[in-house]
Amino acid sequence: MEEYIQRIRDGSLKLHALEQEMSSDEAIAVRRAYIEGETGADLSRVGAYSIDTERVVKRNCENMIGAVQVPVGVAGPLGVQGEYAGGEYYLPLATTEGALIASVNRGCKAITRAGGAEVRIKRDGMTRAPLFACESVPHATDAARWVDEHFAELAAAAEKTTSHGKLTGISTYTAGTNLFVRFEFFTADAMGMNMVTIGSETASELIEEATGARRVALSGNMCVDKKPAAMNVIMGRGKTVSAGVFLSDEMVRETFKTDAATLAEVNTRKNLVGSARAVSLGFNAHAANVIAAVFLACGQDPAHVVEGSNAMTTVDVVPGGVYVSVTLPSLQVGTVGGGTGIATQQECLRLLGCAGGGEHPGDNAKMFAEIIAAGVLAGELSLLGALGAGHLARAHKQLGRG
Ligand code: NAP
Repeated sequence: MEEYIQRIRDGSLKLHALEQEMSSDEAIAVRRAYIEGETGADLSRVGAYSIDTERVVKRNCENMIGAVQVPVGVAGPLGVQGEYAGGEYYLPLATTEGALIASVNRGCKAITRAGGAEVRIKRDGMTRAPLFACESVPHATDAARWVDEHFAELAAAAEKTTSHGKLTGISTYTAGTNLFVRFEFFTADAMGMNMVTIGSETASELIEEATGARRVALSGNMCVDKKPAAMNVIMGRGKTVSAGVFLSDEMVRETFKTDAATLAEVNTRKNLVGSARAVSLGFNAHAANVIAAVFLACGQDPAHVVEGSNAMTTVDVVPGGVYVSVTLPSLQVGTVGGGTGIATQQECLRLLGCAGGGEHPGDNAKMFAEIIAAGVLAGELSLLGALGAGHLARAHKQLGRG
């Protein structure tokens, strides 16, 4: 150990190259000891982990020194009546926000008692939008026309790079001499960012050759990856999924200690008017809370909470009760690839019955998306109910205070 630490100090061994000389667990231990020596911080807890690191250091995390542990709890059972998920589920939520799981659990109780959330996926496609520099406005327009007229060739080029990915759409946008080509792919059970980036690179080489437009960047920010954007709200990115449930007046009264009219008023004034007044892209109460906690538990890319939070909640007062829904235009999830193969995250996906590739490619990821949408609905219902009944601060005082 000391010998390696000395070599790192004198610069003859790079911190990131330790895995080339020893097993991943040994490399992690040496790196951690070096960092402890440099900083004086005790990292013994960070060094106590249960995951298999051989795969993680190659695919998920460079310069690894250990792992942080985020507590995981479950909310449920949560009834889901989707086209891919059907039955009752325990939703794994990794969080440090006291009261969150208790709140989602209350929403799950109401949904399950009502027979389960009705969930449908409206569209499914991951996007990447390379940017090309053209010489003039006519050149940019001609290059865009060429792209619009050569879908089949571009699809054939892109699909050579993947056995699961399928190019499903291309839309072009210009701004002066700039051309943006937004590729959309079906990515089966993968969230798909790596897959579509590789496919888009091959297709964009064809565009350069045919049009003379010069590719400036493989991502031109019209994808739109990990940034809040109206584009994703309107066009969708990943899965566009809606979940809804009818709750009788009696259920609203018993579970949420409020009534249909109050739920609807809070939703309209807060989620719709309040969000419009703030020019927010999220017309919801706290969709990001549930999405972030499920994403952490199940190995999703946490930065995609940005797009996931573009959700809209509606409350319709109907005879005998309320119909409450959430729509998530850009939910980006996968059950293979990325962090889904890490042992603890994979266990959480198994808990839901959707780890890995489905029998029919894409079905597991869709099942996962449907369950998440139902979970977001549970969170929305519970928070709207707490606000309607004036209970929000009380729950946080009891459960969230250190
Ligand atoms: P990935 O980890 O790159 O892998 C997906 C792979 O799984 C593909 O090689 C695919 O093979 C294979 N596969 C096996 N069974 C499959 C099935 N049933 N459905 C779909 N694919 C299957 O995953 P990814 O979702 O494309 O990328 C996720 C990672 O991208 C995350 O770690 C995320 O943080 C990162 N990311 C990358 C970028 C970027 O710009 N590159 C941006 C944001 C995030 P085939 O391709 O041969 O079909």
